[in-house]
Amino acid sequence: MDKSVVFAHIDSLKQEMAQTLMSLISIPAIAPDNGGDGEERKAQWLIQFLEESGFDKVKRYDVADFRVSSGKRPNVIAYLYGASDQRRLWIVTHLDVVPSGIEDTWTAAKPFCPVLSGDCVFGRGSEDNGQSLVASIFALKALKQLGVRHRFTVGLVFVADEEQGSQYGIQYLLGQSVFESSDLIVVPDAGNEKGDFIEVAEKSILWLKLRVVGRQAHGSRPDRGLNAHRIGMDVSLALDEMLHEKYAGRDVLFDVPMSTFEPTKKELNVDAVNVIPGEDITYFDCRILPMYELDAVLGDINNLLSYYREKTGAKIELEILQKQTSPVLRADNAEIVTRLREAIKEARGIDATVGGIGGGSCAAFFRKQGIQAVVWSTISERAHQPNEYAKISSMVADAKVFALLAMT
Ligand SMILES: [Zn+2]
Repeated sequence: MDKSVVFAHIDSLKQEMAQTLMSLISIPAIAPDNGGDGEERKAQWLIQFLEESGFDKVKRYDVADFRVSSGKRPNVIAYLYGASDQRRLWIVTHLDVVPSGIEDTWTAAKPFCPVLSGDCVFGRGSEDNGQSLVASIFALKALKQLGVRHRFTVGLVFVADEEQGSQYGIQYLLGQSVFESSDLIVVPDAGNEKGDFIEVAEKSILWLKLRVVGRQAHGSRPDRGLNAHRIGMDVSLALDEMLHEKYAGRDVLFDVPMSTFEPTKKELNVDAVNVIPGEDITYFDCRILPMYELDAVLGDINNLLSYYREKTGAKIELEILQKQTSPVLRADNAEIVTRLREAIKEARGIDATVGGIGGGSCAAFFRKQGIQAVVWSTISERAHQPNEYAKISSMVADAKVFALLAMT
């Protein structure tokens, strides 16, 4: 079938796509690590929708997690069989979303009460990762409705737990003999506004929790206490400076061509102004270029902490919350890069470039297993922010690329 017929049909599904995105946003799917109840309700809604959409097979892969009320974290795969089942095309998106943050800063919509305004749908999870999730479904739904016999069997993978390390999501699925090394993998979970950037490499990730324990005292008697907040600030700034100086290398393949080391979350210490804090907890989010070994970075961090323990007399603990080494395998020359570039060119007339980002998406876990995976989508980069939105026009445009990728 001519591709213009497929594209026209996808255009005609635009309203339905926006509605589906809004339905999904209105079901929060926050990880228990962030105080949420997981993805179960959203998965149930999605499964029913996929079954009604005519997919050949819809299968669940549950992972036990007793921190959520259902006791499980759902992963869902929907198949549409192609002419050949020799190798498959997979489009991988995630069900979970990050928390809304401070609700007052949301002026365009309440985080989980989506609002449609012009070309935009506002709401938490609209861009990350709802837009691409819906685009992948409607790409295949369009092929099915038109009776297009597409080349590859396509599997749409909807995973849990992407925002918190993927232990209950793609990491579990990769141990279930679902994927093969010759398969083609697209993870539409990062990108840019033009849709002309294909990500083939990611930085390593290090998430750290730094806990300083001093001695609490009355605000007027610092001599009787040990101010953990001051020590915490000193240590954090010293750490920040040391890491930036020592790991200053650049790699132009990456957007943000250097490693980043950012103090992010800060835990509440004392309730009153007139109390010397006895505890101070700060977090760091580090995205490190593959040229550096994470163990070397951690060695330097530990040396610095030892120095401050000695100097201040405070107890200083380091907890590693996430440590993901960037896989050696890059997808620069992978077949999926060529195919995706061609599809983007054909559907949109855009010449896409190839590069790396701060990561981490599900693609890194595929690459770690020797399966080449690319990350691509057309997004406004509003993920994890207040007033997050997705553009309907981008969702429709990406659906055309996915449909073409399945056909050719
Ligand atoms: Zn995401």
